[in-house]
Amino acid sequence: MKVLKFGGSSVGSASSILSVKRIVEAVNEPVIVVVSALGGITDKLINTSKMAAVGDASYENEFREIVYRHVEMIKEVIPAGEAQVALQRQVGELLNELKDIFQGIYLIKDLSPKTSDTIVSYGERLSSIIVAELTGAEWFDSRTFIKTEKKHSKHVIDTDLTNRLIRETFQNLPKRSLVPGFISTDKVSGDVTNLGRGGSDYTAAIIAAALNADSLEIWTDVDGFMTADPRVISTAYTISELSYVEATELCNFGAKVVYPPTIYPVYHKNIPIIIKNTFNPDGVGTVIKQE
Ligand code: ADP
Ligand code: ASP
Ligand code: MG
Repeated sequence: MKVLKFGGSSVGSASSILSVKRIVEAVNEPVIVVVSALGGITDKLINTSKMAAVGDASYENEFREIVYRHVEMIKEVIPAGEAQVALQRQVGELLNELKDIFQGIYLIKDLSPKTSDTIVSYGERLSSIIVAELTGAEWFDSRTFIKTEKKHSKHVIDTDLTNRLIRETFQNLPKRSLVPGFISTDKVSGDVTNLGRGGSDYTAAIIAAALNADSLEIWTDVDGFMTADPRVISTAYTISELSYVEATELCNFGAKVVYPPTIYPVYHKNIPIIIKNTFNPDGVGTVIKQE
């Protein structure tokens, strides 16, 4: 089996999300797909909360854009019919909850870290049910098996507990499973937490390692791990192979293409990480492995 992770830009527009569908449907073995929020939504959720917390009523406009992005995405990618109606209803319920939370923040002008973590979790909860419907995958709630504990005021993974829960959850692996990245819950309180900005890569790596996957594929918006950020250095080119150690160093020095904690769990199990471009699936990409 393998684990595929699609980042925000891969699920940012109707055409990219349809490309995700084609890539997932071409896999001929059991696959677990991990998705981020629709591109830009996590930033918007944070921004909307901050506006509401300072009593800026135009938070409602920001919120309306969040609603619009999801509603339009469903209209564009899911054929009109019963399935579309059911999905709009499901997404509508989540968006209504979110609306109430924002209103609460606006009224009491308070935004605790716990509330903020709850709000950002909606990004992945929304995107993942859309992609699950689109790909015919079974949806699994990562909040029930990615468990964190508080250490020095940071939420860190409880690896043993999480590994056990992942193995229990995926004991009978369906052909296609869909998991929201990034989000988790505190192992004691059950409060919603997350793995940090960019953390969907880490969700995918944790699942791949726990289930001894054959590979972890990170699908993004560039042709692989490059010699520099191509947005900054136009002559950057793709590196076809990297060792885990080299990749870790580059990530720690800011190569944002992979979230740094991602490499360790799969390195430990010697599972190759393959970085590919959702917008150019035939490109060779990068393999990160032992040698
Ligand atoms: P995703 O939404 O798929 O998680 P990210 O934005 O987190 O994507 O990461 C991909 C981006 O990382 C690329 O668009 C690129 O601008 C940036 N990046 C920074 N350093 C590198 C690098 N060395 N190689 C490739 N991309 C890089
Ligand atoms: N949606 C989250 C973020 O924007 C997690 C991720 O994209 O990996 O940070
Ligand atoms: Mg990322």
